[in-house]
Order: sequence, then structure tokens, then C-alpha cells
Amino acid sequence: MVKSKDMNGKLQRIVIITMDMENDPLPETYQGLKFLPKFCEVLDKYCIRATFFVTADVTQKFPDVVKRISEKHEIGCHGFAHENLSMLPRKKQYNLIKMAVDTIEKVTGSKPLSFRAPGLKANYNILLVLRDLEFVCDSSINYFSRTDFFILWRSKVEILNGLVEVPISIPYFLLNVSPSLTKLASLVLPPPLVIYFHPWQFMKLELKNSMRARISAGTELLKKTEDYISFLEKQEFRFMTMKEFSKLYLSSI
Ligand SMILES: [Zn+2]
Repeated sequence: MVKSKDMNGKLQRIVIITMDMENDPLPETYQGLKFLPKFCEVLDKYCIRATFFVTADVTQKFPDVVKRISEKHEIGCHGFAHENLSMLPRKKQYNLIKMAVDTIEKVTGSKPLSFRAPGLKANYNILLVLRDLEFVCDSSINYFSRTDFFILWRSKVEILNGLVEVPISIPYFLLNVSPSLTKLASLVLPPPLVIYFHPWQFMKLELKNSMRARISAGTELLKKTEDYISFLEKQEFRFMTMKEFSKLYLSSI
């Protein structure tokens, strides 16, 4: 058993790369998924296993894509059809997440253990539902916004309602906007470093009404991602999945 005073040292320089696999923002198409093989090639080049949070909707429409990714990476759950779960009653939340779990399990052969709420919009009831459905970890809180989550802003990993709560460290648009700021932030933020992508970020988006989507996306993002991963490797970050990290965390407390 690792003593808690050693925990910070043990958890230093860990990075979890995550991909939220969902439809494109607007119009509701799935063009972004075409870029996943290239993204996975970059991960392969550096022998990285990542966590892909998939919606049931994507899993039903593209079972072969999800199955192939599950052979190397962790598949987590990202809701049924990217609905705002925080607006729904608990029973409805349970039904949608349970259906999503069953859909993912049918395709991959494994029950997802990690969860990220669509739009990072979670609430206390969702955490209760996740515990009922035997999830191990949730990653719906982020450091950089106090408004997306009802629970007070948190800055570290903790056990929340029986789940390992692993906050996201860096806004998804930052790498495209400023690779140097992303690198700097990566060195100073508390561990583990959790970064997240969406498939549609790797294409050119023509969205007049979504500033964040527009600034976050572009075909050059793949190159920036590889450069960033190479930087993290040089800085001796250890890459792991949410599931692996949660296990390590639980063994550390
Ligand atoms: Zn999402």
C-alpha cells in the first residue's frame, strides 16, 4: 500500500489522452470520424493507449469503427445521443445511460467503466446513476470552467460518490489556438493531465454560430497533436487510460 504522502509523487507526469466520439456539432453529420484512423496512427507511433468516450448513437451507426478502436484503447461512455443529461429526471438518466452501456458492451464485448457527460453537463443524480451502473470513473468536471458543472470547481482527483472523479485539465480548443500555451499549461497543472479531443476538430468547420468549434478545428490539428505528444514524451509523461489511472489512484489512497 502506497502511503498518501507518496501519492503526489506517484501520480506526477501522467497524461490521459481522451477523445469524445460524437456527431459533428452542426449540421449533425459524422464526417469527423473519417479522421480517427490518422489520429490512431499518431497514438500507435508513440505506443499510446487512450480513452475514447463514445455515444451509443455512434456505436450503433459505426460498430466496426468502435470495435476496431476497442482492440487497442479503452472505450468509455459518452451518453446515448449526446443529450444534455443534466436536464433530465434521474430515471430517464438511468435508462439512457443503461441503454448506452448495453449498446457499447454488445459491440465491444466489455462494459464501459469510465464516463464523460455529453457537453460536460453532469449533476449529482448522474453520479448516483453511474455508481448504480458500476462505473469506476467519471471525467465530466473541468478545471477551466465553473459553470459547466453544478458541483463546486475542483482542482484535483478525488473520490466523489464512490467514483474516481478525474477532471479535464485543458480546454479542447487550446491546442489548435496556442500549442505553446498548451505545453506550458501541461507542465504546471496538477496531475494527471487530461486532454480531450473530438473527431470533428480535425476537419475545417464552417460554423458561423459556434466560435469555440471554429477556433478549435482545422486539418493542421493532427500535426499539432503529434508535436504535442512528442513534447509530452520528451518531458517524460506516462500515458495511460482512464481505467488504468483510476486503478492506480485507488491503489494509492
Ligand atoms: Zn461530447
